[in-house]
Amino acid sequence: MPLLSLVSDVSIDKPAWQASSACREHPEVDFFVDRAEDAEAAKSVCARCPVRRECLEHALANDERHGIWGGLSPRQRKALVRRASRQPLSEERAS
Ligand code: SF4
Repeated sequence: MPLLSLVSDVSIDKPAWQASSACREHPEVDFFVDRAEDAEAAKSVCARCPVRRECLEHALANDERHGIWGGLSPRQRKALVRRASRQPLSEERAS
């Protein structure tokens, strides 16, 4: 099930970037798998998504704990946040 179709019936304003998401074109792909090794199909779709960055930023800003967002699993997003919190801003810009 495409990630964004889960919220398609909710009557809230959706971010504009969602209209360009690649997962909308792939209803056969499950973005909420239990095992990391089953997430490759979803990550493959994300790799070609024009709004991957926006999606990842959305997941981080909303502390999304389930599913593949922006091509990253919950564990990968958690690691990203952990690394970012350890890295001084000046070093982040240099890398
Ligand atoms: S990055 Fe992946 S989950 Fe996010 S909108 Fe694009 S295809 Fe969907």
